[in-house]
Amino acid sequence: TAQGAGVPPSVNDLSSFWMPFTANRQFKAAPRMLVGAQGVHYTTDDGRQVLDGTAGLWCCNAGHGHPAIVQAIQAQAAELDYAPAFQMGHPKAFALANRLAGMLPGDLDHVFFTNSGSESADTALKIALAYHRMRGEGSRTRLIGRERGYHGVNFGGISVGGITNNRRFFGTLLTGVDHLPHTHRPEKNAFSRGQPAHGAELADDLERLVALHGAETIAAVIVEPMAGSTGVLMPPKGYLERLRALCDRHGILLIFDEVITGFGRLGSSFACEHFGVLPDIVTTAKGLTSGTVPMGAVVTRKGIYDAFMSGPETAIELFHGYTYSAHPLACAAALATLDVYQSEDLFGRCAALAPYWEERVHGLKGKPHVIDLRNMGLIAGIELEPRPAKPTERAFEAFLKCYEAGLMIRTTGDIIALSPPLTIDREHIDTIFDTLATVLDILD
Ligand code: PLP
Repeated sequence: TAQGAGVPPSVNDLSSFWMPFTANRQFKAAPRMLVGAQGVHYTTDDGRQVLDGTAGLWCCNAGHGHPAIVQAIQAQAAELDYAPAFQMGHPKAFALANRLAGMLPGDLDHVFFTNSGSESADTALKIALAYHRMRGEGSRTRLIGRERGYHGVNFGGISVGGITNNRRFFGTLLTGVDHLPHTHRPEKNAFSRGQPAHGAELADDLERLVALHGAETIAAVIVEPMAGSTGVLMPPKGYLERLRALCDRHGILLIFDEVITGFGRLGSSFACEHFGVLPDIVTTAKGLTSGTVPMGAVVTRKGIYDAFMSGPETAIELFHGYTYSAHPLACAAALATLDVYQSEDLFGRCAALAPYWEERVHGLKGKPHVIDLRNMGLIAGIELEPRPAKPTERAFEAFLKCYEAGLMIRTTGDIIALSPPLTIDREHIDTIFDTLATVLDILD
């Protein structure tokens, strides 16, 4: 093309970038361009400050532009920009793995690095399949997900995921997959604060799948302890415990996708700690580096790692990995981020702000179109009544109006999802809910 290296393309020309999960034509007709970020605010190209009500995409838990994280990334780029992780190592990769093992409960002690939540999901599923095979239970190839589950966009993740549109265009994908029912029961649980009272028995559907397929064919169950991307669906009281007990009874691995719930979102380090339920594998990403450098991690219990360590010592135990697994910039960003979480007690801050957050969330009860409100930690789901025959329109309009009013929210279907940086304060929380209340009042 005429534009050579070093010539910045015109920002007026938006045609080349095929935007992900975006209505491209609509966006390009009326772009929303972010050019800077500091603390809990974005700066737009027309110089406005927009309060980040979503921590980017549920990831910037330490806020934006934290000097300690910025400095760590800059220094790492100068010191060691890249090192292979296949048959080679660098110290920060091991330091970070140790650090994560120390943060996770029980014997969740071994860490496999990826670059995203999607890669973490697929990595966890592959580890589960290979684990059973290593132990001579190679018939366990079936993977169980859940309706309304989101495990990213790669083939494994969309196969166990429960979002039709994520599969609709891509063929049959993994066979030998089945799904538990989702746990969203607004007819019984609407306007619950924290965990809803009804629905633990929905975990028992796993017994039905075991009876249908045979336990000896099932490798793993993967669920989000709290489903974020499909609308902030809290686990009913007792549900996760029941799922754990059933997996134990039938020798099935339990995978928690903690890509959103990890790193303080619920007011604890991880959801497994928060709910006191120990899974066999935990997947993470997002908050691991506070969104600054792409990185994910899969953490497994000791017995899983050990099962792979029984063959010849010169043999590669797991045929899996990414060029950028444990990328030095990501490791440096993650170590600095974990330091910030600790030194600023951001998980404790989340827990301390949660009651006020809850009050403000449920203060929207009675506002126009609001049919359910859900909250936990610093996360909220605000479900709006869809417009007749026009699902998603009302919530999307709320998103546009909030953005104009200086607030970034996220919508999924007709549900508004909020998940601000954990560095937020009460005044910002007031701004979020005052803005939302005003927008709901003027929305038709
Ligand atoms: N798993 C869960 C629970 C998520 O919420 C997400 C992203 O929102 C993913 C996986 C996918 O992560 P990524 O977009 O980094 O691939």
